[in-house]
Amino acid sequence: MNEILENALATGNIAGAYLIAGSSPEATQEQIDEFLLRVFCQDRTGCKTCPGCLKYLHKNHADLFVIEPAKSTISIGDVREIPAAVAKKPYEGGYQAVVIARADAMTPQAQNALLKVIEEPPGHTVFMLGAQNMKNILPTILSRCIILKTSFSREETEKLLHEEKNLPTLRARVLSVAAKGDYHLAVSYLEKGFFDIRDDMILALNRLFTARNMATSATLELFLKHEGAVDLCIGAALQYIGDVLLYKHTGEVLVSEDKLPEIARHAKLRDYVLVNTQQALFDCMVKRAQCAGLNVKLALESMLFHILEVIL
Ligand SMILES: [Zn+2]
Repeated sequence: MNEILENALATGNIAGAYLIAGSSPEATQEQIDEFLLRVFCQDRTGCKTCPGCLKYLHKNHADLFVIEPAKSTISIGDVREIPAAVAKKPYEGGYQAVVIARADAMTPQAQNALLKVIEEPPGHTVFMLGAQNMKNILPTILSRCIILKTSFSREETEKLLHEEKNLPTLRARVLSVAAKGDYHLAVSYLEKGFFDIRDDMILALNRLFTARNMATSATLELFLKHEGAVDLCIGAALQYIGDVLLYKHTGEVLVSEDKLPEIARHAKLRDYVLVNTQQALFDCMVKRAQCAGLNVKLALESMLFHILEVIL
């Protein structure tokens, strides 16, 4: 855990508001969970078995307020009840916590509505904010928070993946680069099956490039196989295409240095095929981020169609 948070737990000197700057929502959420589990734990260890831990893990602790974006933004209506809620004493006598892991999704109005209570939080209240895009956070909020970073260095992440997760050195390096050096993100990738996903994406792209399968159903299956990690699928495919293009023009790869034979083979494809594929994947990723209710299958089908369009 972050040294500042560790120290806050050890001394009992917990500040009113922390803002965790992470490279992904997963990374910030993991850091927030790790910290709050110990705040709510009866002996501050995060034992995961005491009533406080269990209530936190099930997100039904009476002193926990979690604000999540209902749509793509958190509006003033979503946070309106927070000041009154935290003005009450904690039900269970310990701390009460307000978690806004996507604080950068708050509209300026929503941030202003929280400003006063973040400025002077009632005793025994801790605000845990997370953000990827710090530019979206109002300076007035920033100035009231203790700002923390989630990340280890890229090398530290690689070393930890090797030592803690028993990954062979090369895989540890590939995963640490894929996760942009963010250890928590790397672990979440690993848990979602990053290496299997990447293999399936290379297979899917290969099928598209060789246009052996004019019907997209078999290719689509490779994406849908990883339901719940579709964004990681698209991300892994994007990184792979990025590597192919980089290799084609510089002879180097950024992420998948363990996939050189495949990369070299695909680097023989024409630029416009690769760039078009990259664009189609990117568009699909953006569409998914912008529109929560998007039908996954339809979005992927449309993406595959756009990739095939220039190949056939
Ligand atoms: Zn506990």
